Amino acid sequence: MTPQYFTLSVVKLKNNCPECFSNEGLELSFEQEFIESKLYKSITNKTRHQIRCTNCNTKIFPVRWNDDIERVVNYHYKTFTPKAASLKLKRSAWFFFIILLTAIVVVSFFAMNL
Ligand SMILES: [Zn+2]
Repeated sequence: MTPQYFTLSVVKLKNNCPECFSNEGLELSFEQEFIESKLYKSITNKTRHQIRCTNCNTKIFPVRWNDDIERVVNYHYKTFTPKAASLKLKRSAWFFFIILLTAIVVVSFFAMNL
């Protein structure tokens, strides 16, 4: 199962891009992990943030961040609130449980009559 991420918020930064030096392209996005399987959909506690530049279309990795960028990221990181972790069962999961329950009832019924 590969975890996926959904975007929680996107903040435009006024910092200069380390790649193209434009000061209108940088976008900081906060993402949170979710896992979707056949039986359930779950939001986990894991979050990540990344910066990309919409001007030169580059992902700016933390190694390329300068002090200014780091400061702004830290600032936004403190104000950002992730969603609470949750687990939601899908219809197929309920269906599976009902079949399982029925099987248990049937088996114990036969066991009692032995
Ligand atoms: Zn750029």
